[in-house]
Amino acid sequence: MTHTLSRQEPRVLFITPEVFPLCKTGGLGDVSAALPAALRAMRLDVRLLIPGYPQVLSGLKYKRKVADFSGLPQFPPARLLSARLAVSASASIPLFVIDCPELYRREGSPYLDETERDWPDNAFRFGLLSKIGAILASDASPLAWRPHIAHCNDWQTGLTPAYLHFHQGQKAATLMTIHNLAFQGIFPAGSVAELGLPASSFDIQGVEYFGSMSFLKAGLYYAHHITTVSPSYAAEIQTDPLGFGMQGLLAARHKNMTGIINGIDTQEWDPAIDSHIVRNYTRSRLSAKAPNKHALQQMMGLIVDPAIPLFGMIGRFSHQKGYDLLLQVAPQLTKIPAQLVVLGNGDAVLEDKLALLAATYPGKIAVTIGFNEALSHLIEAGADSFLMPSRFEPCGLNQMYSQHYGTPPLVHATGGLLDTVVDCTPETLADGSASGFLFKNMTAEDFLVTLKRAVIAYHDKKTWQCLQKNGMAKDFNWHASAAIYREIYLSLLEV
Ligand code: ADP
Repeated sequence: MTHTLSRQEPRVLFITPEVFPLCKTGGLGDVSAALPAALRAMRLDVRLLIPGYPQVLSGLKYKRKVADFSGLPQFPPARLLSARLAVSASASIPLFVIDCPELYRREGSPYLDETERDWPDNAFRFGLLSKIGAILASDASPLAWRPHIAHCNDWQTGLTPAYLHFHQGQKAATLMTIHNLAFQGIFPAGSVAELGLPASSFDIQGVEYFGSMSFLKAGLYYAHHITTVSPSYAAEIQTDPLGFGMQGLLAARHKNMTGIINGIDTQEWDPAIDSHIVRNYTRSRLSAKAPNKHALQQMMGLIVDPAIPLFGMIGRFSHQKGYDLLLQVAPQLTKIPAQLVVLGNGDAVLEDKLALLAATYPGKIAVTIGFNEALSHLIEAGADSFLMPSRFEPCGLNQMYSQHYGTPPLVHATGGLLDTVVDCTPETLADGSASGFLFKNMTAEDFLVTLKRAVIAYHDKKTWQCLQKNGMAKDFNWHASAAIYREIYLSLLEV
């Protein structure tokens, strides 16, 4: 659709359960800051809505109460605060925060309690986020500012399109973005009434999902349009097994679904200015990358040797990310020889297995358990190659960070990894597109063969530099993707 100057730029309420740097558990946190910032730079009036977890409230200096939500029948009393989230020295994003002490003022992860179990009242925690999102996007809003579009992100916001669907009166159009279809927000059927949705919505043509209700299904069913975070993932989720039960609905809605690759925040992630790393470097000053490897090896207790290839891996310890494959190949990896540094947390069994792996191979494998933003930057800069053997990957950010940092990624050929990494072959080296390594089959054999292929390339200085420079030359900026979101918003003004 072409945009004419006379047309109004859409106002967008971007509803999200996390936003960097206030609260981040994964890629969604990064996207929730960077995409709205990119859209605002294009002069769209985008504002955020997020829950007031303790770290959000304490992270925002100036907050002002703008509305009171003490009369919502299904939910505890809440206030709406207005603040601004600084995203750079010169830019900030207006932000609405839901302050509901009973639901949000507790320490821990936004989704899990200290025993790693879902908070028992998650239906209400994110029901309230969805509900207030719907109110602000309709003529029931107490605010003067009204969005044209309610842009919902992941299951936690999936009820907004449902509430809006049943709202009689003026309302915004809805866009539902899937960042990870594996998380579906499934609750007992009784939640439908408890959350104030009509009984008629509990239907296959509605929020019902195999006898329960699903927040995500609600969003996918009722939203006017759906996006997900890469074209390949958009195709994969229309079939089994990556559709996780939603493939029928997604295939039926494919005409209203678009795959848009995420960008990266090139201010946060730029080796030329990154303050978390030991030495800054650029594509034309790649030699300055070496002190970062030295520092990383030293800090992690690895043998300090610039000649041994060092692989890095960061991320949630979960079945999705393929740590089981890593555990299988790691002993052979050390024999190549190569080193491995891992940063992450999550699944307790994987935490134990990875800690044991590091203890078994001192000086060769180092594992840090925890969430550490600064160390994640040093790994991107200090490792020679970055591993992402993900079973599935909607988009993935680290493979883009690593290309940007001259650290060629080695990835499973799936979802956004397939869309953003070009396998190193004689042809792709010749045409200047090679930027990493892909393996097709999710097996330890295929992974190990590809690791060996990468090590051979690493020892061929010319090939390696070519991979590094190709990756660093790529444009991972949000600009192109933000322009596609804008086109979708514009098309939704007509629904
Ligand atoms: P996902 O959203 O599935 O977890 P992504 O690759 O899209 O995976 O995004 C993960 C983001 O979270 C990246 O920015 C990654 O560096 C960061 N991250 C994940 N785990 C950790 C950790 N333990 N410490 C620091 N950063 C982490």
